Amino acid sequence: MSTIRQALTALDRDAAGRSMMDLAAELYPIPRSLTGDGVRATLDRIARRMPLERHELPTGTQILDWTVPREWNPREAWIRDPSGRRVVDLADHSLHLVGYSTPVHRRMTLDELLPHLHSLPEQPDLIPYRTSYYEETWGFCLPHRLLASLPDGEHEVCIDASLEDGSMTWGEFLLPGSSAEEVLISSHVCHPQLANDNLSGIAVALHLAEALGRVSERRYSYRFLFAPGGIGAIAWLARNRERLDTFRHGLIAANLGDAGGFHYKRSRRGDREIDRAVAAALANLGEDLVTEDFFPFGYDERQYCSPGFDLPVGVLTRTPWGRYPEYHTSADDLSFISAEALAGSLAAYLATAAMLEEGDVRNCAEGSSGERQRRRPRVPDSVGDRRYRNLKPFGEPQLGRRGLYGGLGGAGRREFEIAMLWVLNQSDGEHSLDDIAERSGLPEGLLGEAADALLEAGLLEEQA
Ligand code: ZN
Repeated sequence: MSTIRQALTALDRDAAGRSMMDLAAELYPIPRSLTGDGVRATLDRIARRMPLERHELPTGTQILDWTVPREWNPREAWIRDPSGRRVVDLADHSLHLVGYSTPVHRRMTLDELLPHLHSLPEQPDLIPYRTSYYEETWGFCLPHRLLASLPDGEHEVCIDASLEDGSMTWGEFLLPGSSAEEVLISSHVCHPQLANDNLSGIAVALHLAEALGRVSERRYSYRFLFAPGGIGAIAWLARNRERLDTFRHGLIAANLGDAGGFHYKRSRRGDREIDRAVAAALANLGEDLVTEDFFPFGYDERQYCSPGFDLPVGVLTRTPWGRYPEYHTSADDLSFISAEALAGSLAAYLATAAMLEEGDVRNCAEGSSGERQRRRPRVPDSVGDRRYRNLKPFGEPQLGRRGLYGGLGGAGRREFEIAMLWVLNQSDGEHSLDDIAERSGLPEGLLGEAADALLEAGLLEEQA
C-alpha cells in the first residue's frame, strides 16, 4: 500500500471490526487503575502487536506541578453480610472497588459501612465507577438494588491492596515518516472494566498504527501514546517538553465504539489544521459530524491545551464522555460497543490522517474559530475587565493539594471548579474575565470568585 488514502479505500471493515472487538474482549477483565500491574498487563497485550517503548516513572518524581503518586495494586476486596455470604466481590467485577482504596479488614455495622458504599439510585442495576486517587479513603461500588437489600447487623469488610512507592507506567510507539514532524494519537489506559470509555480508544489507536504501518509513503511520523489519564499526559509532556517543536497535530481517541455519530471537540484555538482536517475527512467519508468548541475539562486535552503548551489537539469520539447513560457504569460493557462502530471510527481516523498528509485543508470551508469575537457592550471598570496571567501554565496545576478542588461537596462546587479551570486556561494575558464569561457561558461573578481563589493560591497574577 503506498498511500494512506489507498489504505483507507482498501480497509476491510469487517475484519478490522472483529479484530478490535477481540482486543477489547481480551483487555476487558484486566483490573486497570492509574498505576499498577493492570496497566502493565494492558501494555503487555498491546506490545504483542507493536514494539511499544515502556516507561516507568518512580513514585515521588516531580512532573510539572504534580508528583508521581504511589502505586496501587489490589489483590482482593469483598464484603460479607451478617450471614457470612460474600455480597460484593472484586473478583466478580473490578468496578466493585473504588480505585486507590486503602487497605482495611474489620467488622462494622451497616450504618458504619454505608458512607463507604456508592450506588446509582436512578440506575439501580448498574455498578458505578469511582476513584479516589488523591484523597486517602476506601469504598465499594454496587448496584443500588443490592445496597438497599443489605441487612442490618455486622458486616465483614476486607480490602487487601498495596499502596506504596513504586512507579507509574506508560507506553508509546513511534511510527517514523519521511519527516520528523509528529502526529500524536493519545489514549488513556487507566479505566478498569469499561469498554467504550477506554478500550475502544486503545483498540482504534492500535489498529490505526497497524494500518499506517502498512503504508509506504508517510510524510508525518505518528506517535501512539497509551498512558493513564491526567497524570500520564502530564508526565509525557514534562518528559518531552524540549522536543515539542516537532509536534504538529494531535487527537485524543476515546468513546469510539458506541452506536452514536461522530463528535469533534476542537483544539483550544479552534482554527488549527487538525480542526479543519477532521471536519473535511468526515465530510469526505459521508459521515455526520457534530463539532464543539474547546472547553478546559474532559480528557487529556486539558493538559495538551493548557495555555503554556497550547498544542493543536482535538478530541474525535462518537458520543462524548458523560453524555450516554452507560458512561462510567457497568453498562459500558462489551455489548455496548460493536465491531461496526469501531471499524467506522478506524476509518474516520485513517481519513483524518490522509487529509493531514495531503495537506489541502487550509482553504476548507469549515474554518470555525474558538477565538471568535462576540463581545457584549461593557460596563467600564467592571469585574469583567480584569485580566490575569496563569503562573503555572504548563499542564493543569494541582488544585487538590492547594485545597481548591473537591472535598467540600457543597452545592455549586463543581461549577466553581469548572470556573477555575476556565480562568486558568484562558489567563494568558490576552483574555479578560469578560472574554472568559463570553466563551464559557459562566457568570462573570463566579469567574471573579474563581480568579480571587486562584490569586490567593498564588496561581495567577493580575495584569495591569
Ligand atoms: Zn472516563
